[in-house]
Amino acid sequence: MESVVRWNRFGRIKEMNFSLRKRRAATAAKNAGVDGMLVTHLPDVRYLCGFTGSNGALVLAGGRAVLFTDGRYTAQAKAEAVGTRVVIAKKPAVMAACEWMAAAGVRRCGFDAANTTVAGLETMRKAVAAGASGANAKARRGMFVALGPVVARMREVKDAEEIVKMRAAARVGCELFEGMLTYLEAGLTEAEVAATLEYAARLAGAEGMSFDTIVASGLRSALPHGRATGAKLPKRGFVTLDFGVILDGYSSDMTRTVHMGKAMPGERDVYDSVLEAQEAAVAAVAPGVTAGEVDEAARSVLRRVKLDKYFSHSTGHGVGLEIHEGPRLAAKQKQVLEQGMVITIEPGVYMPGRFGLRIEDMVLVTAKGGEVLTPSVKAWIEL
Ligand code: ZN
Ligand code: ZN
Repeated sequence: MESVVRWNRFGRIKEMNFSLRKRRAATAAKNAGVDGMLVTHLPDVRYLCGFTGSNGALVLAGGRAVLFTDGRYTAQAKAEAVGTRVVIAKKPAVMAACEWMAAAGVRRCGFDAANTTVAGLETMRKAVAAGASGANAKARRGMFVALGPVVARMREVKDAEEIVKMRAAARVGCELFEGMLTYLEAGLTEAEVAATLEYAARLAGAEGMSFDTIVASGLRSALPHGRATGAKLPKRGFVTLDFGVILDGYSSDMTRTVHMGKAMPGERDVYDSVLEAQEAAVAAVAPGVTAGEVDEAARSVLRRVKLDKYFSHSTGHGVGLEIHEGPRLAAKQKQVLEQGMVITIEPGVYMPGRFGLRIEDMVLVTAKGGEVLTPSVKAWIEL
């Protein structure tokens, strides 16, 4: 067979992964009773065909995959969506995709209900019914079938190529944190800390941050999601840093809490309890274990020392092409962990009017247990 020169030396590997993913999605769609699937959630589009543009709709139907986008992405779509037919449309990608499906005779089209708006669904219905009338138009309008998170579910288990990327993103996060340890000092504003961290992230190759960097100091550390403000780091008190970088599309996510100056009474005990809870949950990670069991491993440690009422969120979440994806690690969650999932473990304690802290790692579910991808020091740090 003639060998084909691809746009870069990784082209063949990419094509292999994408064709496998597209096949698996098509099988899932078939099992759901539809003969076509419209994928519009951009992280899903990227996952299935490699396209990273801001306007794209992917159709899987009749053994074919067709990506619809617009003229801004002519060169990029062809380079990225290796092995997928690309159609440059002069109208919104979703409309062009729907018209193509109507013309191709798709009878039942699955769509992602969680990522489609009411207005978006109406646009899809209008597009497939265009040019038809009466009963035919009505039948076409009725062709859409709301599907569960078919692609999102696939994305929960990472393949080897994705794990390489997630390891790299996690490693950059650790390097940034270690850099911050030599920089943090009382009097800096939280915004200055966030800006410095984000500047360093860009220099380290990050495409962006996974989310708005959280720097919560002093009394503000009691806010679980305290975005960086003009508040100054105290001479004595906690500083929680929760941040992540996007590298090659994949997000990292980690939290460390350090203490400025000497601990005040009680602070060290609470820190040690959160650390013990975090390590207990990391130790509980294994394939076959439920998400709820991992959550309970953390929560039970805090319950024993009567701090569980201050642990006001879930223990963790999946991470990948999106910062928050499945599985959700919360109380009583029955979902079973599988090898290849990448999750966060991030218990915290938040005592309003006093202080708060959180410790978060990214953990890969391996064949036997869990591997921490963010091995930065978690022991008590006093600066
Ligand atoms: Zn985080
Ligand atoms: Zn997180």
